[in-house]
Amino acid sequence: MFGRAPKKSDNTKYYEILGVPKTASQEDLKKAYRKAAIKNHPDKGGDPEKFKELAQAYEVLSDPEKREIYDQYGEDALKEGMGGGSGGDNPFDIFESFFGGNPFGGGGSSRGQRQRRGEDVIHPLKVSLEDLYNGTSKKLSLSRNVICQKCSGKGSKSGASTKCSGCQGSGMKVTIRQLGPGMIQQMQQPCSECKGTGETINAKDRCSECKGEKVVQEKKVMEVVVEKGMQNGQKVTFPGEADEAPETVTGDIVFVLQQKEHPKFKRKGDDLFYEHTLSLTEALCGFQFVLTHLDNRQLLIKSNPGEVVKPDQFKAINDEGMPMYQRPFMKGKLYIHFSVDFPDSLTPDQCKALEAVLPPRPRSQMTDMELDECEETTLHDVNIEEEMRRKQAQAQEAYEEDDDLHGGGGQRVQCAQQ
Ligand SMILES: [Zn+2]
Ligand SMILES: [Zn+2]
Repeated sequence: MFGRAPKKSDNTKYYEILGVPKTASQEDLKKAYRKAAIKNHPDKGGDPEKFKELAQAYEVLSDPEKREIYDQYGEDALKEGMGGGSGGDNPFDIFESFFGGNPFGGGGSSRGQRQRRGEDVIHPLKVSLEDLYNGTSKKLSLSRNVICQKCSGKGSKSGASTKCSGCQGSGMKVTIRQLGPGMIQQMQQPCSECKGTGETINAKDRCSECKGEKVVQEKKVMEVVVEKGMQNGQKVTFPGEADEAPETVTGDIVFVLQQKEHPKFKRKGDDLFYEHTLSLTEALCGFQFVLTHLDNRQLLIKSNPGEVVKPDQFKAINDEGMPMYQRPFMKGKLYIHFSVDFPDSLTPDQCKALEAVLPPRPRSQMTDMELDECEETTLHDVNIEEEMRRKQAQAQEAYEEDDDLHGGGGQRVQCAQQ
């Protein structure tokens, strides 16, 4: 803002901004600032630029040391770092320190909305189905940027910073490229010299702790509480725990739960599905088995007397599914999916024994004579999926060959239209 009028050693502007003579007393300056700052406060619909100018002018003139430098050498001298920073301070801080808080209420919260918000940091967090069933907590060590304590995030020993010469303090650099005769491309990029901050810190003045970076790395152990019944993809948020940066509202750290596959159980909402294979004898004559649940409880599962379980049948147990999130005393269902393992072959004696107890075969409608007239066939074993896949591939190949003969893709469209 000041950079647009780089009048050499301008030492009257601050007085003009506040509307006071150069001889004004501290009391006069205070009165002038108070009146103008209230009138121009952005919360009251004032112009933020004007408000910022007022804060900068008041900050310099209210400090006798800075005022002297300003009177003698102008504002450029202040920016060289002789008398401390100008321009880098938050005008709202100055306003609030003057009034002892924001007189328009909100206790500074209105300032928060005005500030840039830092990015949220997202971490995936692997959890087991057992974790989601029982609840758990996981400790994670993360490193993040925090404002350097030594320099309070100024980056310099003196608190001063200089406007970046690479970008004149705007933080952006415009590069012009000649693409061809009469064609020019203009590109705006963050300034590489100041990393887009618009300011640089004198090498000698750099904070020894953060090397002028304003932030330092900090290791922090976070404890993520995984509650009973949480879902795959659910987020656990730590507000304001992401990387800190000067004049920025810190973003959140967000953990996204990622459930690992379970070898035995599958989850659908609040329900659990469990695969179990029965032998044919068990399917026909009854079964019992022990199911180890996700909390290691042993459930005894058994069929009702005389009941036959068919292949692919489901049965359910109430209240043995997943606990519901935030209502963990309520649980979904546990479904059991049964497969039946049939024997590969039987001896003639076994067949005879089975026929004696199983329902009789359907009677043939044909006489033996008529059957003798029929043609003999042989049944082969097949892997039906494999065969179908092979046939589809063959058909595709033949189609493509056909396509080649007719001279390419145009034919295909024509065929399709007929
Ligand atoms: Zn720059
Ligand atoms: Zn520092």
